[in-house]
Amino acid sequence: MLPGVHRAILGGTFDPPHLAHLVAGEAAYRQLGVDVVSFIPAGSPWQKQGREVTDARHRLVMTRLATGGVPYFETDDREVTRDGPTYTFDTLQTFPADEQITLILGADAAAGIRSWHRAEEVLARCRVAVAPRPGTDRRAVEEAVGSRLDWLDVPDLDISGTALRRRVAEGASIRFLVPESVYRYVTTYRLYREDR
Ligand code: ATP
Ligand code: MG
Repeated sequence: MLPGVHRAILGGTFDPPHLAHLVAGEAAYRQLGVDVVSFIPAGSPWQKQGREVTDARHRLVMTRLATGGVPYFETDDREVTRDGPTYTFDTLQTFPADEQITLILGADAAAGIRSWHRAEEVLARCRVAVAPRPGTDRRAVEEAVGSRLDWLDVPDLDISGTALRRRVAEGASIRFLVPESVYRYVTTYRLYREDR
């Protein structure tokens, strides 16, 4: 990778990765002119302790499947191979200082950024590109992020990992809400099913 690259980072649990994640990455590429979008599955998400998160290896493979074939998308395993809770601050330290970094967040995540570990330093290092999400308030995002904010122009997509897991558990289909490859993976490994 050439020095001075502009990288967008889209972190998440990706349990499972779905179309709204890909649409946000595409918007960052088209609208902000980033060189690459790095999808980074969280190893042990500190905000999700309390619910059972699917094994990181499954989430990593599904993220690779979801991003595969798009030349400006990559899936990065640096968080799943690290022990302990996953903090964005620590992840940012592992990228070269001369890279320009934009964090891609959904509006729900962006509204909570002040509660993050070393939030001030995260906001000093990156710009933040936010995808509006149904049910979240733009003003709350603007107050939390401050001036280094870019709104991404994406359609409201009412898709969430939580709702997808629930659908599978209830025997409903998630086909066409996730990439076909992810749909096949979830089916093959019987992820999210009550009867696994
Ligand atoms: P869960 O319901 O398990 O939290 P999720 O759909 O929120 O799943 P995450 O992996 O938690 O997916 O999200 C990664 C990032 O993608 C977060 O910044 C989140 O806000 C954003 N995101 C997820 N779904 C959407 C959506 N429908 N619209 C905009 N942003 C989204
Ligand atoms: Mg979420």
